[in-house]
Amino acid sequence: MNLLDDKDRIFTNLYGKRDRSLKGAKDRGCWQGTKNILKKGQSWIVEEIKASGLRGRGGAGFPTGLKWSFMPEAKEEKPSYLVINADESEPGTCKDREIMRHDPHHLIEGALFAGFAMGAHVTYIYIRGEYVREREALQCAIDEAYDSGLLGKNACKSGWAFDVILHHGAGAYICGEETALLESLEGKKGMPRMKPPFPAGAGLYGCPTTVNNVESIAVVPTILRRGAGWFSSIGRPNNVGTKVFAISGHVNYPCVVEEAMSIPLKELIEKHCGGVRGGWKNLKAIIPGGASVPLLPSSLCDNAIMDFDWLKDNQSGLGTAAVIVMDNSADVIKAIWRLSKFYKHESCGQCTPCREGTGWMMRVMERLVKGEARIEEIDMLHKVSKQVEGHTICALGDAAAWPIQGLIRHFRSELEQRIAERNKVEIKYVAAE
Ligand code: SF4
Repeated sequence: MNLLDDKDRIFTNLYGKRDRSLKGAKDRGCWQGTKNILKKGQSWIVEEIKASGLRGRGGAGFPTGLKWSFMPEAKEEKPSYLVINADESEPGTCKDREIMRHDPHHLIEGALFAGFAMGAHVTYIYIRGEYVREREALQCAIDEAYDSGLLGKNACKSGWAFDVILHHGAGAYICGEETALLESLEGKKGMPRMKPPFPAGAGLYGCPTTVNNVESIAVVPTILRRGAGWFSSIGRPNNVGTKVFAISGHVNYPCVVEEAMSIPLKELIEKHCGGVRGGWKNLKAIIPGGASVPLLPSSLCDNAIMDFDWLKDNQSGLGTAAVIVMDNSADVIKAIWRLSKFYKHESCGQCTPCREGTGWMMRVMERLVKGEARIEEIDMLHKVSKQVEGHTICALGDAAAWPIQGLIRHFRSELEQRIAERNKVEIKYVAAE
């Protein structure tokens, strides 16, 4: 597969080497002909995004244009809102951060197009609490856009009033869940809501709301300028466009890079990260889409394709496209235990399977790391993870269950071996006594 051509890159300042100000962004093509695109109308924009095949870049991969079309007709008594989820807190995930701090005008212009298409006059961007410098860079770009008349009462002289309000979170992972984010934005505790109603029916302040990820919105201006056909020509059917990947762990050069969707994993790592530490043969496993998706063992990595469908077909997921690489020196059991600890800590506690299950799973994982569990507890752990998965208000329950299920699916022998080794040591002690 060909690597993404430079001319097809949407984010041309991902590494912050160029001018990120409004002037620099305009020189790179942002805010060009915005008014004329807005003139084409709301339904044209929605249809173009549908035709582009863009799927949400925040994890679920739901078609973006279709999501926009769920918004009801704007009515005077109830405003519509666009909310941009910039609460990027998934372990390993750091892609939106680069967009916000180095290429923020893509996001702001995208917000105008998306907000206009859905009849929203106000967009809230909810940014992760720890992202202080990113908030400053983004606020600076928003201020520039207001000063130049690109936002405000008559945005881009289009006649459409449009405000962008940046809200800084307090650093809770669960506020990245869209309904918890809305609760937090309303000034309440960040706890997920039961669905339905979905945000398009009753979202922020009970009004129609669409929540989109940063990258999903930031790619919109380029799609509208270059056309749906251009975007959909990159990648594989149903998995199209460019994608920002964040690769970390045991590679020679961890990086964030924009590539073509459906790039083979091996190519992604070898071309952009200088390969796996110690060579491809030293690869043990990867987590392909941020902490919440099941890992893939090296045997599946040779032919892995980085897109929604291939990873789903192989019992994992593209998630946030944050690839965590582990070489043979990694203690994969301990790595998954660490994720269990994270989810236990971040559970909001309002539903029992998650509140009790995440703690229970973490404690069993802790004993598995030391080999102190009994063999039959592996199946028990799997069973409990299945009782958590799909039985909770939000997807945090699934996120806590899936890494464990992946570990048991692919590394059961390692779990059993650790228990056996521990037992051997204990028998030796008893014999010595
Ligand atoms: Fe809270 Fe966990 Fe239930 Fe989500 S699944 S609502 S985080 S307790």
